[in-house]
Amino acid sequence: MKISFLYLTLLVAFLTTHLTQAQVKPFTFVGEKIKAGSKHSVLLPVGKGENSTVIPVTVFHGAKKGPVLGITAGVHGLEYAPIMAAQQLPKYLDPAEMNGTVILVHIANVPAFLHRSLRVNPVDGKNLNRVFPGKPDGTLTDQIAHVISNEVIARSDYFIDVHDGDANGDLRPYSGYYNYFDMPEVSEKARQMAVALGFDFIVQFGNEQSLTEEAIYCSREATKRNIPAVDIECGRKGFVEEKYVQQIQQALLSLMRHLQILEGKPATVQNPVMIAKRTSVSSQHEGFFYSDLTSGDYVKKGMKLGYITDLFGNHVVDVTCPTDGVILYKTFNPPVKKGDGLFSIGHIN
Ligand SMILES: [Zn+2]
Repeated sequence: MKISFLYLTLLVAFLTTHLTQAQVKPFTFVGEKIKAGSKHSVLLPVGKGENSTVIPVTVFHGAKKGPVLGITAGVHGLEYAPIMAAQQLPKYLDPAEMNGTVILVHIANVPAFLHRSLRVNPVDGKNLNRVFPGKPDGTLTDQIAHVISNEVIARSDYFIDVHDGDANGDLRPYSGYYNYFDMPEVSEKARQMAVALGFDFIVQFGNEQSLTEEAIYCSREATKRNIPAVDIECGRKGFVEEKYVQQIQQALLSLMRHLQILEGKPATVQNPVMIAKRTSVSSQHEGFFYSDLTSGDYVKKGMKLGYITDLFGNHVVDVTCPTDGVILYKTFNPPVKKGDGLFSIGHIN
């Protein structure tokens, strides 16, 4: 039998394409086998009975080989810009066109989201971003952290946790990464990820010799596991502002291009401002907080940042700036308790 050259060429092309795809094994996620070139959404169960919740996760398993990127939104349930960006992200991800895998946690803290709870899970009053790696036998927040640590972070080659200023925070957008001197490779990969997110301010977390403490923070749990990890902080005041939702989405897609999960070039910023240190200003009193400044304002050591009154409106104290820098975060509405953070000031060298 004669086989034409054209037929042979087509056969080779067909086999090459299909064998390449066949080489990509299914991605097993909590017992579910997800085929290459497909996606799967699941509600991960956490806890038992009344003390339980779910974590909505979508896994996009690319047709071609590549790294695994873990993404969490909604670790804080009132931070809507990241949560809305995560809701819209699936529109931009076609597993047939992807190299590698994305594990997207749409909302890490569902009880906080549904109950509009500032920073903490209303079930146990704990801040999810203060309990990592979590515990399998702790309260509900500990258990959520444990599930995310083991089912999402541990499965990732790269990791990103997305936040915003929360409902009391006026925030100037930035990306951040963990930098530890005895982890030069992981830190450098994380720095490159932070640059690829395209923010013009980049905060360095850590900047110490070693990471010896407990993880506490979601993305620092990834760093503990030698997984390059970054944060986004974008959005503010409990608003859904489309420009910040878009900025987060574009940053995540740009990161995927940097990691070659998606085709194309990342949208980096030339010469981003590097912030090696931050200083927090906390309230020493309870009452009302007043300040005319906004996030992004540049401030000088010794200047008046605002003032606090008691519950009758009597002036109690002026809040003075401890350092030169830029306001990354500011509490923008009146109530303050003793110990509440009023400002986070980034040092610019
Ligand atoms: Zn947050």
